[in-house]
Amino acid sequence: MTQMYPSCSVMNLCDEEAFFNMNDLTKRTWAEISLPAIRHNYHAIRSTLPAGCRFLGVVKADAYGHGALPIARLLQEEGAEYLAVSCLDEALELRRGGITMPVLILGHTPAEYTAQLIENNLTQTATCLAKAVEYSEAAVRLGKTLKLHIKLDTGMSRLGYLCAGDLFEEGVGNIISSCRLPNLAFEGFYTHFAVSDEPDEDSRAYTLEQYRLFTAVLDAVKARSGITFPIRHCANSGAVVSYPEMALDMVRPGLLLYGYGDGGKLGLQPAMRLVTTVSTIKYHEPGVCVSYGRRFVTTRRTRMGVIAAGYADGLPRLSSNRCSYRIEGRDAPQLGTICMDMCMVDLTDIPEAEVGSEVELFGPANDICKLADAAQTIPYELLCSVTKRVPRVYTE
Ligand SMILES: *Cc1c(COP(=O)(O)O)cnc(C)c1O
Repeated sequence: MTQMYPSCSVMNLCDEEAFFNMNDLTKRTWAEISLPAIRHNYHAIRSTLPAGCRFLGVVKADAYGHGALPIARLLQEEGAEYLAVSCLDEALELRRGGITMPVLILGHTPAEYTAQLIENNLTQTATCLAKAVEYSEAAVRLGKTLKLHIKLDTGMSRLGYLCAGDLFEEGVGNIISSCRLPNLAFEGFYTHFAVSDEPDEDSRAYTLEQYRLFTAVLDAVKARSGITFPIRHCANSGAVVSYPEMALDMVRPGLLLYGYGDGGKLGLQPAMRLVTTVSTIKYHEPGVCVSYGRRFVTTRRTRMGVIAAGYADGLPRLSSNRCSYRIEGRDAPQLGTICMDMCMVDLTDIPEAEVGSEVELFGPANDICKLADAAQTIPYELLCSVTKRVPRVYTE
């Protein structure tokens, strides 16, 4: 069975009527999302965790382009304990779509939205004492309690209470002060790794030091105030794979769920297959300039396919002339600058390719990592870059 959401609006996403059949596709460019692959990945990750360890599925950025609601529903059904998103809007999309499980907002939410956070039973990250004070004041005015997780900056130098080096005592003090503020409930305590997915010695040492600081702050907070946190968590995908001893009370993978980042260790399956079709095939003699900027010139008689995907669908323009797509079981080099809505591929050596042939831009048969390398980026960015005009088709 195949279902499709037009990924156009929150309204549509909330409306079961918005599911369409595969037959409703106009067969231009689409993203097939394998729900069995996500389910498989979830259980493959879960099976590596110590007993009692909770699973938080990261579904920020529309579940890395896979569609936040269908992925959240799947995780809720399969028994995951928590979800995380980056902001209030993403959290509200989940609540409007009927997701009832706990949702942690990883990024900043202005204190003026404290009422929405509380009404929707969302968990907010506290990133410094000043913001905790603002949340507390707002919650006191409302006469309600806001649920929070403290975020510690142990070396990512992004969000979080500072606590490295000379700032240790002050950081510990600020955390304790935050926890004593009225109308705030601190359920969790977490940090985020910068290089847990990098295997070299220097990166390993950095990750171990981040973890050491994390546990040292937890210990100091407990020693000075008796305060403990039910849910301590730090393991992103890289740490789930390479530092199982850091699972603590909950793990927080994103990329692994979508089928990447395990180096083959967990047998994960790529969940997204980005597909387009051949629109036109023509023959060019040698010496013909192809596409904007004339950056490719044919050197042989070329059977050239025009395919119906471009950078407005999410193909990185930087990968122009440097990647290949999978057509009829073979690699077709992409030629010339990638345009907004289409690009060209060399079909000279793929005589089976016809107008209408499917083209796998990335997916199980065409490793996204190759395309990411060609575009000097990472699979994360490519997954998030699939634009909203690309319908997501869910396969069971
Ligand atoms: C995005 C994010 C994650 C998930 O990262 P992956 O590398 O995809 O596993 C976990 N924690 C935080 C704080 C994040 O921002």
